[in-house]
Amino acid sequence: MQKGILTVLSGFSGAGKGTAMKRLMEKYEDYALSISATTRKPREGEVDGREYFFKETEEFEKMIAQDELIEYARYVNHYYGTPRSYVEEQLEKGKDVILEIEIQGALKVKEKFPDTLLVFVTPPSAEELRRRLIGRGTETMEVIEERLARAKEEARGIDCYDCLIINDDLETCVDELHAVIQNEKKKVMRNAEFIAKIREELEEL
Ligand code: ADP
Ligand code: 5GP
Repeated sequence: MQKGILTVLSGFSGAGKGTAMKRLMEKYEDYALSISATTRKPREGEVDGREYFFKETEEFEKMIAQDELIEYARYVNHYYGTPRSYVEEQLEKGKDVILEIEIQGALKVKEKFPDTLLVFVTPPSAEELRRRLIGRGTETMEVIEERLARAKEEARGIDCYDCLIINDDLETCVDELHAVIQNEKKKVMRNAEFIAKIREELEEL
């Protein structure tokens, strides 16, 4: 069976990654979204095991020590990491898996799985980013400023990504994301079929 493809979605805090992922999962059934572990506290409405697995620092460090994470990073005073077992199981089953993670983690995943598709999502402007972060109303102004400072650093790494999607209109953003992943999948499958065929032909030559 053809293995699924792995996509990493990154973007500044407040870009709309979570919103886009939720809509993508509603609109298209093809995807498995990995749930990360984090030491940050749940926001209002977030449920343990749905948005994140919320962990104490000690528990998180135990997961690192036991090699249970594909990657992990520090982001504005907290740990975030991708549990290994779910991702590997889903890919083996042929599911296309999406990781919604920041840039350091994205680069580690690309190192371990070179076929990973790296997608960066951004709002149309920096001013709109600030508006969305404030409008979300989930962080203090101090944390918002820290996240905006982090966005400046992250902007330096956008070149490492395969594809940039602007989240202006949400539906357009979600449809583009779906198209980019499906296109990559087709390419991977076409290449795999061609490689198998040419190898066979060369054996018979
Ligand atoms: P992230 O997960 O990237 O930190 P969120 O998904 O939490 O960002 O979105 C940040 C805020 O921006 C939320 O209040 C969300 O409702 C809003 N938002 C997301 N996408 C759009 C969009 N296309 N247009 C306007 N507002 C958006
Ligand atoms: P938030 O606190 O807004 O949910 O997430 C903060 C940042 O952490 C976002 O950029 C998000 O993509 C990133 N993130 C979430 N899960 C992971 C993860 O498992 N690994 C890494 N490296 N980053 C993550």
